[in-house]
Amino acid sequence: MNYSFRKKNKIVKYIVIHYTGMKTLKLAYKKLVDERSDVSTHYLISRNGFIFNLLCPKYKAWHAGESKWKNNNNINDYSIGIELENKGHDFGYSNYSNKQYWSLKKLINFLKINFNLIDESIVFHSDISPNRKQDPGEKFFIKKIGISRFNLKKTKKKYSVDEMLKLYGFHETYIKKYKKFCIMSVKRSLNYKYISPNQSKKFIKDFYNLLFS
Ligand SMILES: [Zn+2]
Repeated sequence: MNYSFRKKNKIVKYIVIHYTGMKTLKLAYKKLVDERSDVSTHYLISRNGFIFNLLCPKYKAWHAGESKWKNNNNINDYSIGIELENKGHDFGYSNYSNKQYWSLKKLINFLKINFNLIDESIVFHSDISPNRKQDPGEKFFIKKIGISRFNLKKTKKKYSVDEMLKLYGFHETYIKKYKKFCIMSVKRSLNYKYISPNQSKKFIKDFYNLLFS
């Protein structure tokens, strides 16, 4: 399978959550361990809650692709990848199973302890590559694994959408270049049913509450 060595100055800071986006678990598994696929991951969690450990996290997997988060580029360098079995938006996007949430929770707790990570270290593929990716998507409920990603303190009364996008964690280049996609990614985090780039009053309020409460 594909992997690289981590550079000494690039430590694990994030866990990236994905969906497989393939018709079957078997196809996803085959692709993730195939050297010719150009992709790989550390963990794969099936719908029945089985955790496949495909690569030791001390090595770098190729799951994020072109990506940025906060002040970092190439998030593969800084992260552990977890793929959840789900056909995805192209092949029949479905709810994640309770067994998947249960296993994911156990795995994340284990990784948090071993890599000294906090709730804010958990990111979605759609956050770090908003222009290209939609996974794990609006049907992924992070509260089900007891994670609260944003615990920000208010320093003033009002924030612009751009300021909130920055606080959420999007890289400044992406906010400038792909603002619409960034907004759609936030809507996925908010579990909106319909994902559009429009900035309604409700969205602005929900976004604010996501960051500050
Ligand atoms: Zn992904």
